Amino acid sequence: MKKVGIPRGLFYYYHYPLWKTFFKYVGAEVVASSATNRVTVDKGIELAVDEICLPMKVYLGHVEELCHKNVDYIFIPRVVSIESKSYICPKFMGVPDMVKASVPDLPPVIEPIIDLSKNSKLIEREIIRTGRLFTRSIKAVWEAYRYACQELHICKALAQEGYTMEEAIRIWEGEHISMSRNGRLNIGVLGHGYSLYDETLSMGIISRLRAMGCRIHLPESLEEKSVEYEASTMPKRIFWTLGRKMVGSALHMSKRDDIDGIIYVACFGCGPDSLVGEIIERKVKNKPFMLITIDEHTGEGGLVTRLEAFCDMLVRRQLLGDEGLRLAQGDKRRLKSGCVFRT
Ligand code: SF4
Repeated sequence: MKKVGIPRGLFYYYHYPLWKTFFKYVGAEVVASSATNRVTVDKGIELAVDEICLPMKVYLGHVEELCHKNVDYIFIPRVVSIESKSYICPKFMGVPDMVKASVPDLPPVIEPIIDLSKNSKLIEREIIRTGRLFTRSIKAVWEAYRYACQELHICKALAQEGYTMEEAIRIWEGEHISMSRNGRLNIGVLGHGYSLYDETLSMGIISRLRAMGCRIHLPESLEEKSVEYEASTMPKRIFWTLGRKMVGSALHMSKRDDIDGIIYVACFGCGPDSLVGEIIERKVKNKPFMLITIDEHTGEGGLVTRLEAFCDMLVRRQLLGDEGLRLAQGDKRRLKSGCVFRT
C-alpha cells in the first residue's frame, strides 16, 4: 500500500480528517508528521527564508520530518480558496513551490489546487486527479470523497462543543479527552487555527488559560450565521476567509454578556494578522482585549505573566464592578508600553 505523508501544519488543523479518510478509501495509508516540537521549529527555521511567517517555517519542519518516514508521496495542497468569493492568504498558493525550493530529497508531491472561489468544477477535477493516483475507479474516488466529507463534519461538530480543532482530531482518532465546561472566567481566544491549536507554536495558550480556571470560547464553537452576520457589518468585506471569521467572531463575542475578555493570537510576520488584529482592537470597545504576537523567540515566562495579568484584571472587574474597571484602567497605563491591553 502506498504511503502518503501529511504535514501537521497549516490546513492540517482544518482538513486532516477529510484527507485522511479520502486517502484511506482510495487505498492509501496516511502518515502524519509528529506534533510540533523544538526540532520541527528549528529545522523549519533553517530551511525557510527569514521573512516568512512562523507557521510557514514550522510547516517546512514537518515536511522535512516526513522525508525521513519512507512515504511515497507528500500531500501539499495549493489552497487558493475554500469558499465562494473569498480567499486564503496568498502564501498558501505558493506552499508547494516553496517546499520544493527549500526541502532537499523530497518525495513526489501531491498538490491539488483547492479553489472554490468561483465554482466547484475545479475542485471536482482535482479530487479525481488525486484519487486516480491510487485507484482507477472514478466511482471509488467519489465514494471516498463522500465519506471524507462526512468525517470532517464529525470533527466540526466536536469543535462546536468547545474542543479545539486539534482536540477534535484526536477524539476523532479515538483518544479520550475530557474538558471542563466550567470556569470562573469566560475568555474568547482567536487566531489562525494552525498557530492557535499547535501547542508548541502557541506555547499552550489555551491549556494554560484552562489551567488558570478559564472557560475558553473559540471561533469554531460559535454559530456560523452569527459570525457571518457580524462580519458583514464591516464597511468593506474582508476577503480572507480566516480574517473574516476572526473579525466576525470578535464582534460576536464582544456582544455576549457571558464573555469576560478576548485574546487575539497573531503571528509575527503575518500580513493579514497585522490588519485583522488592528481591526479587532479598534472594534472591540466594550471588553478587555489583549493582542499576543508570537514568534520563534517568544519566551514562555513573558507569555504566562501577560496571561496571568489579563486574568487578574478580569477577576477584579468581576469582583469590584466599576471600581474594578477603574483599577483596570490603571493597569492600562502601567502596561501601555508592553502590549495592547485595554479595558
Ligand atoms: S495568514 Fe499569516 S500566518 Fe497564515 S500563512 Fe498567511 S502570513 Fe502566514
